[in-house]
Amino acid sequence: MSVDTVSSSPNPSSPGSPSAPNPQSPSSAALPDAAAASVSLSPIYAPNAGAPRHIRLTSHAGGFGALPIRWGAATATERGPIVGTTTTRAHRNVIGTHSGSYSVYRALAVAAGALNPQHKADLTNTSPTDLIGPYPQWSDPGRIVSLDPWGAAVADVFSSELAAGYDIRPTIAVTQAHVILPEVIEALQTGRLKADGKFLTAGGAAMVTKAAIEPVWFLPEVARRFGCSETDLRRVLFEETGGMYPELVTRSDLEVFLPPIGGQTLYIFGNPRDLANPEVELTARIHDECNGSDVFGSDICTCRPYLTHAIEECIRGAQRGGVGLIAYSRKEGRALGEVTKFLVYNARKRQVGGDTADQYFARTECVAGVQDMRFQELMPDVFHWLGIRKIHRLVSMSNLKFDAITGSGIEIGERVNIPDELIPADARVEMDAKMAAGYFTPGAVPDAEELKKAKGRGLSE
Ligand SMILES: [Zn+2]
Repeated sequence: MSVDTVSSSPNPSSPGSPSAPNPQSPSSAALPDAAAASVSLSPIYAPNAGAPRHIRLTSHAGGFGALPIRWGAATATERGPIVGTTTTRAHRNVIGTHSGSYSVYRALAVAAGALNPQHKADLTNTSPTDLIGPYPQWSDPGRIVSLDPWGAAVADVFSSELAAGYDIRPTIAVTQAHVILPEVIEALQTGRLKADGKFLTAGGAAMVTKAAIEPVWFLPEVARRFGCSETDLRRVLFEETGGMYPELVTRSDLEVFLPPIGGQTLYIFGNPRDLANPEVELTARIHDECNGSDVFGSDICTCRPYLTHAIEECIRGAQRGGVGLIAYSRKEGRALGEVTKFLVYNARKRQVGGDTADQYFARTECVAGVQDMRFQELMPDVFHWLGIRKIHRLVSMSNLKFDAITGSGIEIGERVNIPDELIPADARVEMDAKMAAGYFTPGAVPDAEELKKAKGRGLSE
C-alpha cells in the first residue's frame, strides 16, 4: 500500500465527530480491516452512561482546527505546537499520543474508570526551574529530529493557543534535585571529592538540574538519519507494532510521531546555560539504561560503576568552573529489553567453554538477531537541544556514541575510560569484547587468544 494513494483521499466530512469515519469513504478500501470498521462498544468511562459509544478512529483527517507544524521553523509561533491530545480529536496534528510507553497505562486508567479521558492537565506552577535555549540549533530541521525543542516551554510560547482551547502538553519537564549516591559519599570519605556546599554538600548530596524528555519524532528526518525512505519507515513502524498506528500509512500529511517508547533523563551539574558555551569545560556521559546494574548492582557489566564514575567526574568538573551532564536513555539491554538480555546471559554462561569475550556479541546475535538495537543516530539531538558545540571530556568508551556525536558536528576533546579498579570481575568478558570490537581504550587491545579465555562466572557459582 502506498502512503500517497491512501492519504490523498481523507474523509473531511466528520470534523470533531465522535463517531467513526464513514466506512463507505473512498479511502477505507485501502485500510486494514480493523481500522475501516465502525465498531460499537459499551460505555467504558461514562459518568452519564447512556447510548453505546463508537470507537473514534484517527486514521482519517479529523477535519478542521488542527494547527500546522513547520518543523525547524525559527520561532515557536512559526513552528506551531505539538498537539497529541485525545480529548479533541480535530485538534490533533501528530500520530500517537503523549507519555511514550506510559500512554498505555493512561488507557488502562481510563478503561478502569479511574481517569476521565477528558481531563486536561492543570499546569499551574509546573514551568521549568531553568531556562534552556532557544539556541540556533533549534531552527535547523535536520539537527533535532527526535524531540520537541519547545517542549518545556509550551505554557509560555503557546499561551494564546492554550487560551483558545488547544490541549497542548509539555513533552519536556525541567526541575532541580539533590542526588545522593553511596559511591559519591565514599569519594568524599576517601578524599577523591571535596564538599563545597554549592555543588556537593558535606553529607554527599550533589545539586542537579534534571530534565525528563519524551520522544517526538519528525518522520521525514528520522528516515533520513536511518538511510531509508519515509514511506518505508512508516510502513515498517506500522507493521512491526502489529498495526498499532494506522495513521502511519494513511496520513502522510501528519509528519510527527509520538512513539510509544521510553524517553531520556538529563542530570546537569552546574549551570545549564554553560552547556552552550564551548569555552566552559563540559564533562558528559551518555548512558543507556541497565536496570540490573544501575539500580540493583548486578556485576556482569560495568554500567553502574561507569555511571557513578561519570557522576564523580561531573561533580569535579563543576567544582573547577565547568559543567557536567549525564544523559540517561531508556534503552534497556541495548534496546533489546531485559527478557532478551537475561536469555543472552544464560546462553553465554552455558555455552561450551564458558563465558568468553570472543563469543560475547555472537551470543547476543543468536538470540536477538542483531548485536545492538540502540542505534545512536538520534542520540545527539539532546546535545543540540542544550546548545552544546563542544564536549571537553566524554566519559564513554563507545565508538558508536563517539562517531554519532562527532558526526553531528559536536567536537569531542578527551575520552575518559572507566578506571580498571572499578570493573567487576564478572564484567571482564564484556570489557574485553568491547575493546576488541573497537571501543576506546588507552591500554592494549586484547588479542584473539586473550578473548578465548573464560572469564565470566558459571551460572551456579
Ligand atoms: Zn549493564
